[in-house]
Amino acid sequence: MDWLFAHADDPDIDEPFDAPKGNVLGKESTESTGSAIQEGHGETATSSGASAEQDLQARSLKCDECSKLLKSELDAQAHAAKTQHSSFSESVEEIKPLTEEEKKEQLARLQERIKQKRLEKEEEEKKDQIAREKMRRNQGRDLGVAKQKLEEAEMRKIAEERRREKMEEKLARQRVKEQIEKDKRDRAAKFAKEKEASNPAASPAAKVASPTPAPAASQPPKEYTDCRLQIRLTNGQALTQTFGAKEPLSAVRLYVEMNRTDAQGPFSLMTSFPRRVFSSSDMDMPLDSLGLVPSSVLIVTRMQ
Ligand SMILES: [Zn+2]
Repeated sequence: MDWLFAHADDPDIDEPFDAPKGNVLGKESTESTGSAIQEGHGETATSSGASAEQDLQARSLKCDECSKLLKSELDAQAHAAKTQHSSFSESVEEIKPLTEEEKKEQLARLQERIKQKRLEKEEEEKKDQIAREKMRRNQGRDLGVAKQKLEEAEMRKIAEERRREKMEEKLARQRVKEQIEKDKRDRAAKFAKEKEASNPAASPAAKVASPTPAPAASQPPKEYTDCRLQIRLTNGQALTQTFGAKEPLSAVRLYVEMNRTDAQGPFSLMTSFPRRVFSSSDMDMPLDSLGLVPSSVLIVTRMQ
């Protein structure tokens, strides 16, 4: 069977199973012996003599362990390799040619076996393909996961940046606000100093010396000629400008219209301490009568 399988591709597989002469054990030595005889005895050696001698030669090898007949040394080696049997002896028994029936049967088995092998191979290839596909898909998934992670990281980065920008914006607004407060305090302090300088009676030393009511309270309010305004725009920026105390609020309005850096459009003016939104009828009023003298913060708001 193994021999059949090994020789399945031989061109003579379908020819009668007579062992070729070259495969018969001892044939070669017989021939060389024959030629030697020929050389030695001239014409005495005949073809009939040679064939008679050949009849006495071993026709096959026999496995001593399982009695299997083997056609040639090559077959014996193959048998030994397959079965681990190691003892062979020469045999004059000829391997009987297979009957037609046996040949058919062997061929059918051979074909069955080839088919089986092919199926196994196909099965194996299919498995390999599945394994490769699985691996490919796993790699694809890994790639997808990596991509998703990258995108998430990117999004976190963007969100973080946005948060930082917002924080910086808030801090900037805070700084502006503080600057405004500081300016206000500075102005108040400067004003108090000037007042003190022009009216020595109001100095703390004078107060301690004479516990009379504060002159500022009893005296009429000082007449201011200037009105210093800080105008806060809708974008957080501020304009600072000094107006005449008797100028109408409409002058401030015009100034804002001409100098604003934020979005254009209708707006109102208001103060926050105390909260007061100026109406159109206030526009003709002088700044001092609106309580904006000597200095105030005006807030620009978008009109709805
Ligand atoms: Zn054997």
